Amino acid sequence: MSVVGIDLGFQSCYVAVARAGGIETVANEYSDRTCISFGPKNRSIGAAAKSQVISNAKNTVQSFKRFHGRAFSDPFVQAEKASLAYELVQLPTGSTGIKVPCFYTDAERRSVMDATQIAGLNCLRLINETTAVALAYGIYKQDLPALEEKPRNVVFVDMGHSAYQVSVCAFNKGKLKVLATAFDTTLGGRKFDEVLVEYFCEEFGKKYKLDIKSKIRALLRLYQECERLKKLMSANASDLPMNIECFMNDIDVSGTMNRGKFLEMCEGLLARVEPPLRSVLEQAKLKKEDIYAVEIVGGTTRIPAVKEKISKFFGKEVSTTLNADEAVARGCALQCAILSPAFKVREFSITDLIPYPISLRWNSPAEEGLSDCEVFPKNHAAPFSKVLTFYRKEPFTLEAYYSSPKELPYPDPAIAHFLVQKVTPQTDGSSSKVKVKVRVNIHGIFSVSSASLVEVHKSDENEEPMETDQHAKEEEVTDSLLPAAQNPHGAQLGRSQTCQADSKDKKVDQPPQAKKAKVKTTTVDLPIENQLVWQIGKDMLNLFIENEGKMIMQDKLEKERNDAKNAVEEYVYEMRDKLCGVYEKFVSEDDRNSFTLKLEDTEIWLYEDGEDQPKQIYIDKLAELKTLGQPIQARFQESEERPKAFEDLGKQI
Ligand code: ATP
Ligand code: MG
Repeated sequence: MSVVGIDLGFQSCYVAVARAGGIETVANEYSDRTCISFGPKNRSIGAAAKSQVISNAKNTVQSFKRFHGRAFSDPFVQAEKASLAYELVQLPTGSTGIKVPCFYTDAERRSVMDATQIAGLNCLRLINETTAVALAYGIYKQDLPALEEKPRNVVFVDMGHSAYQVSVCAFNKGKLKVLATAFDTTLGGRKFDEVLVEYFCEEFGKKYKLDIKSKIRALLRLYQECERLKKLMSANASDLPMNIECFMNDIDVSGTMNRGKFLEMCEGLLARVEPPLRSVLEQAKLKKEDIYAVEIVGGTTRIPAVKEKISKFFGKEVSTTLNADEAVARGCALQCAILSPAFKVREFSITDLIPYPISLRWNSPAEEGLSDCEVFPKNHAAPFSKVLTFYRKEPFTLEAYYSSPKELPYPDPAIAHFLVQKVTPQTDGSSSKVKVKVRVNIHGIFSVSSASLVEVHKSDENEEPMETDQHAKEEEVTDSLLPAAQNPHGAQLGRSQTCQADSKDKKVDQPPQAKKAKVKTTTVDLPIENQLVWQIGKDMLNLFIENEGKMIMQDKLEKERNDAKNAVEEYVYEMRDKLCGVYEKFVSEDDRNSFTLKLEDTEIWLYEDGEDQPKQIYIDKLAELKTLGQPIQARFQESEERPKAFEDLGKQI
């Protein structure tokens, strides 16, 4: 069994594997996995797919990370759609699909979880990127403050291709707690690329009279060249050329750019670096002096001006002790190794947080209207469970939603409806007590995870006090990686927050005075029906899993077919060389001529009729050639071995 950590990046996807000796990231060919090219017969991924971004533009899908769990009508999706070479389609559920044969807020997370299932992976934990980085940072640190000491606060900054995220974490020996996070979901490397693209579209447009945006291939090529130029400018402040041959309508284009001018054009983007930094400090109620270090990762932090902005804000040098590209994947692999019984890793507890406040809404029979309650405020510790108590005679629905829609990256605050089923009144006709457990799990996904009905059986003996429930009672249980006793954060938070679930209803249904009576209670689990927003249903998921299986099979067959074809081609070249070389003396002239002719025919056939044949045809072809080639080869080998045999014989005598 092996465990891997995957950094699902917008541009690059790094995969790290936990091995006995430590964490290794998997070689380059995989790191471009966020690009998939769908050919007529098979798929290619990574570097092989990247080379097809332009040639197979319509069917090469990249930068799809941000479409997970979003509505097709989402403004972000609609805005992106305009600049994509591939088509986006609306799925029957209203969510976004990518039109080729295939497929963090709650909905985004659920969508990624679905994707892992389709890929046949068992996802141990969906972890926030900056939290993974924090783990990669903390686990090897030997000098973290002891548990009773003041924690060490470290800020993590990740600016990748699509987004910018900042977190501040408190470290003590063996544990980390995320104190606050902030983000700019659209600030990343591609925004800087766009600035250059816009500039050159205008410049080349005027200079060469080209309408670049009308031709997607030219535009994609310009994006690639601008990104390359942007990277060069990180290392070089002087004038740099921008030349593209045969760019459009057979015209070669050329221009120049330098760092100073680029920065001027990026002023608006650079101004967006500071607000999230300020925000995390404010949320965590920390001052700049309280920050021990600022660790930066993500490709775009390599732009010197970005780095400067960060270090100027904190008034200290930023640290780059972590591998900017691999830190997220390494952190993920470490987390998996910790969670997996197959590995012995130093324990390290992670308390993450809930980035957007989550509320529940329900119909309240007593108030004849809707009641609601914020169950998880912003920055509440996660994973975490709470138990809410309701008094009901019939099934009821809890509607979960994000209570601060402005903070969300998309316009729909709905999370899901949870229908608590099979609720019945008590035997005396009064409301039943229903305990509902709400939970943000280890993946950061919210659910009403279980519900149970408490059946009260009274007897006449007046021995024990009856459960009165005069006040709104709300229990909270911690649900961290560590038992509550070892996890002061969880336990503390559990007690400090209350949520008045349904207090009014309950009073209505309670007996006015509680008499002493012996009470026995039994609990019955209640089924919950989930109606999730934007989640593909079981049927669709199964269909995707089936399709993925078919595509894997198809990719495998296509590879075998290509291998068989290559084997024929290789044999043709090898034999042709050898017939005029080492095999010359071992074949009659007539035989050689006819074999050479046969080889030539085969070569032509490979480029014409034989270009696209089933695997077996190539196998047969190779066998046919070998019936001619093998006798020659055998004679050659025998003559090679004969002198050696004599030598050996000589030695024996
Ligand atoms: P995200 O985290 O947003 O989902 P990602 O993880 O794929 O995306 P990274 O791999 O961290 O992103 O970074 C890629 C970005 O960094 C690209 O925009 C790339 O052009 C940019 N980049 C990489 N090297 C440099 C450099 N030397 N100078 C400037 N930008 C760079
Ligand atoms: Mg990233």
